[in-house]
Amino acid sequence: MSAMGEPTFRESVDMMFNRAVALMDLSPGLEEKIRVCNSTYTVRFGVRLRGKIETFTGYRSVHSEHMEPVKGGIRYAPNVNQDEVEALAALMTYKCALVEAPFGGSKGGLCIDPREWEVHELEQITRRFAYELIKRDLINPSQNVPAPDMGTGEREMAWIVDQYSRMHTTDINAPACVTGKPISGGGIHGRVEATGRGVQYALMEYFRHPEERAACGLQGDLDGKTVVVQGLGNVGYHAASLLSAESGCRIVGIIERDGGLWDEKGLDVEAVRQWMDRHGGGVKDYPEATFVENGAVLLEADCDILIPAAMEGVINLHNADRIKAPLIIEAANGPITFGADEILRKKGTIIIPDMFANAGGVTVSYFEWVKNLSHIRFGRMQRRQEESRHQLLIDELERLSADKGLGWTLSPGFKERYLRGADELELVRSGLDDTMRSAYQSMREIWHGRADVTDLRVAAYIVAIDRVANSYRSKGL
Ligand code: NAD
Repeated sequence: MSAMGEPTFRESVDMMFNRAVALMDLSPGLEEKIRVCNSTYTVRFGVRLRGKIETFTGYRSVHSEHMEPVKGGIRYAPNVNQDEVEALAALMTYKCALVEAPFGGSKGGLCIDPREWEVHELEQITRRFAYELIKRDLINPSQNVPAPDMGTGEREMAWIVDQYSRMHTTDINAPACVTGKPISGGGIHGRVEATGRGVQYALMEYFRHPEERAACGLQGDLDGKTVVVQGLGNVGYHAASLLSAESGCRIVGIIERDGGLWDEKGLDVEAVRQWMDRHGGGVKDYPEATFVENGAVLLEADCDILIPAAMEGVINLHNADRIKAPLIIEAANGPITFGADEILRKKGTIIIPDMFANAGGVTVSYFEWVKNLSHIRFGRMQRRQEESRHQLLIDELERLSADKGLGWTLSPGFKERYLRGADELELVRSGLDDTMRSAYQSMREIWHGRADVTDLRVAAYIVAIDRVANSYRSKGL
């Protein structure tokens, strides 16, 4: 138990797991095998910085190796600890199973506040951490493939892949040792926005179903829905930006580390993000909105959709009964504690669970890994061939129209849109959309199809655990 009388993050994940397996028919041995974290490596290393040796502590946890490589981000935050990394690794196992990404689950973390260090210092620290993991095959294209998480991004991934290449000079698959790389370093179009876009696709799929809309008492589609988002980082920014620019949502609240912003008429997400970039990452003093010193109270504000996209445990026993949003989508990992989950379920709040909601990141990471292993970008072979076949059809239509004097004219812009073959970005989006829809379908079949399953989280766990169990069974375990 943590100090606040709540389970720790890992205990919370295990308790959610237990709720699901209680409804399944697994042997106790297999149940235990799936739940436990296989291994956690702790490393303490020194780096000479600012004239003295600084010691850092890092972790890489492997939850399940039923499929390899194992996959999961690397987080940079001051409070990273073994419990957290193990909880996140477990969620990765279930997430990959749910979206059918052929990986086991892993996660890494480094206890560091990245804002305290200069870029060249962060590079030294990252390379040293990567070295420790690479030499134990805890970073390796066929065994363990990290990605960005809180506090890390393309830049850190580029340093890691370079470090790996230096240590494995003849490995032709070196770029596949990590995903979330910059395009120039072997990355894939659409990865940076992938988790946020996945949140958007998840909501779009949810709102397609009348039963789902009725369950949370919201009508129509996403257009005009009011949204509060916590955390305007990689995931929160892209989710908020896409929901407002493409889906017509009104972002009425943004909660950041230093407080919250509120505007009933809707906040300009791009302007807030730019303000943060220019003012040390904070939202305070942003002129176009009401500033709320204790940002967390905005979690309790009136809105249609609440998107926690910052960190775990923010919706807990202390505030759960005051949350008003009828629909919460967990863009962050573990934002709702086990106890809070129970309170919200009793109130009838619908929760779209993390293992599905933020799976867009690992889905596009999977595409990136495949791209790296196949050494060719998606669409390179087919694009022009597709265009020439489309051209044939257009030519034929135009010929028919002219020969028969029919006077047909195509709608404005149709020809250009139809003729264009799909590039990598379009293929990535199509693959992501399809993945999110299929994963949602598999959850909803259980949610609506079984009388003993009353929420999406348990449904998600049942789908994921069943797939992991089948994988173990097929190995004869
Ligand atoms: P990030 O570091 O890019 O952004 C996190 C944001 O949250 C920052 O803007 C930070 O200032 C803010 N924040 C931190 N603590 C806060 C607090 N107490 N209150 C309000 N705001 C706070 O991180 P990210 O990559 O966007 O990850 C966010 C969450 O999404 C994490 O739970 C992570 O595990 C999860 N996630 C990330 C990815 C990914 O692809 N990056 C994929 C899946 C899940």
